[in-house]
Amino acid sequence: MTQSFRFPDASALTGYAANPLDRLNDLRDDPDRQAQVLREDSTRLVVFCRDKPVLKCGENGASAAFTLEEAFNLGARRELVMLGSNSKRTFFALQLDDSAATLREFADEGPMGETRELVIPGRPDLTIGELRSLALDETLDAEEVGLLGCAKSVLHWHARHRFCSACGAPSQPNSSGWRRDCPTCKAMHFPRTDPVVIMLAVRGDFCLLGRQPRFTKGMYSALAGFLEPGETIENAVRREIQEESGIFLGKVAYFASQPWPFPSSIMIGCIAEALSEEIQMDAAELEDCRWFSRNELKAMFEGCHPDSFGVPQPIAIAHLLMRSWVDGKTPQF
Ligand SMILES: [Zn+2]
Repeated sequence: MTQSFRFPDASALTGYAANPLDRLNDLRDDPDRQAQVLREDSTRLVVFCRDKPVLKCGENGASAAFTLEEAFNLGARRELVMLGSNSKRTFFALQLDDSAATLREFADEGPMGETRELVIPGRPDLTIGELRSLALDETLDAEEVGLLGCAKSVLHWHARHRFCSACGAPSQPNSSGWRRDCPTCKAMHFPRTDPVVIMLAVRGDFCLLGRQPRFTKGMYSALAGFLEPGETIENAVRREIQEESGIFLGKVAYFASQPWPFPSSIMIGCIAEALSEEIQMDAAELEDCRWFSRNELKAMFEGCHPDSFGVPQPIAIAHLLMRSWVDGKTPQF
C-alpha cells in the first residue's frame, strides 16, 4: 500500500495523482530479477507510441494494460521502464519506435475537426489516444490515468535525453529505465520534473483569477508559472503573482501538489495572502485578471454565473484550489 492511500491528503484528489504503485526501488539495479518479473504471467505493460498511449478497445471498455507478448508484438521497441507493482501485478512502460504507427487520413473531418489519426497498421482493435482526453472523459479509471501519466513523463524524458548533456555522446538507459548513463564521460542522468507554482491569492472574501487567451470561453483560473533556479516556492509564488497581476503578497501556504505529465511537471498548489488590491495585468500573459467574490465563485462552480464564467476541469489542481477555498478548506491568514 502506498503513502497516498494511507494518508489521503488533498493532493490525492487531483488528476494524474492516483498512482498506487510501489516503485520497487530495491529491484531497479537488479537486471536478473527485473527480467524475471517482466516474464511473470501477471505482469502488464502500458504502451506508448510517439507520446500517446495505445489502448485496447473491447466490449468491456478500454484498457491500457497489455501482456508482455501482446506488447512486444506491436512493433519495434525503444525503451522499457519498470513502473512498480500493486498487490496484484507489476507494471512496465514500453515506448514503441515511431515506425510502429502510421498516420491515417480521414475522408471526412472528425467530430473535433481532426483530419487524421495515428494508427497501428493491421490492428483495428487498438486505438492511440490522447492522455488529456482520456483523463477528462473517464475512459479509464483514475489509477490507470495516474499510471499512464507517470509512464508518459519518464518515456518523454528518455526521448529527449538520448545524448549526454555533459559531453554529447549517446547515453544508455540503466536502473530499470530510471537513469541514463554516459559510457564516455561516466555521467549519470536522472529523470527530471519541472516545478510549477500555481496559486490562489486571496484577500478577505475575494480571490484573484485570470484567463489566458487559449482558455475555453469564460473560464478563469488560478495564476501559475515556473519556479526558477535559486528560488523558494514562496518567493516564486510572490514573483509570479506580482509579475502577472501587480498584486503584492504576504504569507504563502502550501496546499497540494499534482504530477502534470505535459510533459513532466509537478504543480505546487498554494494559497497566498494578498496585501494590495489594484491590478496591473501583464497583457502578454493574460487576457483578463480580476477579483472574484466567494459567492461569485460558487456560482461559477454551479454553472450559474451571470456572465457565464466557469472554472477549470476537475482534473486540474486549479479546480481543487478554487473549490477548497470556496468550501473554507484552505489555510486561513
Ligand atoms: Zn558524457
